[in-house]
Amino acid sequence: MTAQAIEIEGLRKTYASSAGQPPKEALKGIDLSIPAGSIFGLLGPNGAGKSTTINILAGLVLKTAGRVRIWGFDQDVNPRQSRASIGVMPQELNLDPFFTPRAALEVQAGLYGVPKSARRTDEVLRMIGLTDKAEAYARSLSGGMRRRLLLGKALVHRPRVLVLDEPTAGVDIELRQMLWENVRRLNTEEGMTIILTTHYLEEAEEMCDEIAIIDQGQVVARDRTEALVGRLDAKTLVIHPETPAGPLALPKGVDRRDTPDGALHLSYRRSQTSADAILDALRSAGVRIRDVQTREPDLEDVFLDLTGSGAR
Ligand code: ADP
Ligand code: MG
Repeated sequence: MTAQAIEIEGLRKTYASSAGQPPKEALKGIDLSIPAGSIFGLLGPNGAGKSTTINILAGLVLKTAGRVRIWGFDQDVNPRQSRASIGVMPQELNLDPFFTPRAALEVQAGLYGVPKSARRTDEVLRMIGLTDKAEAYARSLSGGMRRRLLLGKALVHRPRVLVLDEPTAGVDIELRQMLWENVRRLNTEEGMTIILTTHYLEEAEEMCDEIAIIDQGQVVARDRTEALVGRLDAKTLVIHPETPAGPLALPKGVDRRDTPDGALHLSYRRSQTSADAILDALRSAGVRIRDVQTREPDLEDVFLDLTGSGAR
């Protein structure tokens, strides 16, 4: 047993120039440790470097510099053990169209050196709900089924660490629920460490114990989920008054912006004041409110809050 499932130190990646494109520095020195047994979210906008990080862990992309340990095994010193400790469900659908789900799982198990006697192809097929499709050609499978097969492939060698790269991008609600149920069960029943990448804050918030946010190849924040979300202090009330609102005495720290459609955008910090106090102030100023909306912080706000950039 190791305390850290993954330890990444000073990880850098520069993609070589190709097809007239200049070299791209995708990772600029990532330090990250991921506790064993956790569900960990790697959150960040498109192009942040999430897949590059994941693909280095998976051994699919060569790092430029830095050190990676998976389940205590240094990737460069113990490549075989470190690879055996991790299973990755990639972002891209990369299935051989001529393999049936059963064959795809068997081939994958073979690649990982799982002896025939230790294989659990039927169990995996059941888990991903493809028992009925075990003998169908991959090219006849729906998109959702293919994704489930990718999950199955990541699990054939019983890895300690399961990585899911954007598992719910473009996926329907049913598949999403099935994925989350499986992930939670693998985590609680088998103690599997789960790492998932997403660019949806809500998804990370719902699933993950801890979150790291990466942006432009760097970790900009890392914390327990509640703590991180608690730091997202900024909120906005959008008020549509019955008639245009004049000058108002608002609670301290509330920032007012009027939009051309007559709405008031009132930004405040949860730590300083409440929506109730703001609404009270409006009512006592005689403003009749037709409609109120709250705007929850999104990833954009997270970055503004964390990096301090932007006009807030
Ligand atoms: P994310 O998964 O967070 O969207 P990626 O890791 O895919 O981000 O990409 C990080 C940066 O590296 C992006 O600017 C992307 O265009 C670039 N990149 C990714 N893969 C390659 C590649 N094979 N060759 C050149 N640049 C790449
Ligand atoms: Mg990606």
